[in-house]
Amino acid sequence: MRKPIFAANWKMNNLSGDVVEFFKVLGDSTLHLNDREIIVAPSFPYLKMSVKNSEDKNIIIAAQDVYPEAEGAFTGMVGGEMLNDLGVGAVVVGHSERRHVFGESLELIRKKVKFTQENNWKLIFCVGETLQERETGHLFEVIKEQIYTAFDQNLWCENEMAVVAYEPVWAIGTGVVASPEQAQEMHLFIRKIMKERYDREETRILYGGSVKPDNIKGLMDCEDIDGALVGGASLKADSFKKLFLYDR
Ligand code: PEP
Repeated sequence: MRKPIFAANWKMNNLSGDVVEFFKVLGDSTLHLNDREIIVAPSFPYLKMSVKNSEDKNIIIAAQDVYPEAEGAFTGMVGGEMLNDLGVGAVVVGHSERRHVFGESLELIRKKVKFTQENNWKLIFCVGETLQERETGHLFEVIKEQIYTAFDQNLWCENEMAVVAYEPVWAIGTGVVASPEQAQEMHLFIRKIMKERYDREETRILYGGSVKPDNIKGLMDCEDIDGALVGGASLKADSFKKLFLYDR
């Protein structure tokens, strides 16, 4: 049984007032949700207050990134000891904005994946192809390479601690959502890799890219979609609630 996950990625949005409001509006809606997991990833400055404001709400607070060192001379970075000190329970790694806007290499992403596993934070590992890669028929090899380079065959933590998010780059923040058929096709492909290479068929695979209250059901009805990683529609609690409480 793969418990669905609904994860909010706020990116570089939401200030202190928004954070307080978000958790206030969520109220106790997440408290007794034992058949799904809720994760919220605020930006670094708001991690501490998010941990505090989500206390007793049955929510995991995630960092949107980590520098894969415990501490040291890495100006501008946030490392392992800091995330532990802040009370973070999960980390997003390999988001397409990190890959494409900040030029993160496959090797750096691999280090971050390893570091996340070593620190026992839940990993939300993002993969996704660009429109050009899809249109030229390279989508499957791109996703395969992103997974193969990130995970060593024998470096793999407990099942529930590692989550893959399929986020086609052309669907992120564009309003163009992948059709349930397109998403299902890729999720099935990813599940096969997880099974054949890592013996982890039960890995949860989330879809991300313009998920909204009006398209969540079609996506969640797909056999291999185990939840959503959501940007824009997760910034306000009312909209995020409509996603994790969608009409099944
Ligand atoms: C994301 O940033 O992970 C994302 C999926 O964004 P959006 O929902 O806004 O497309």
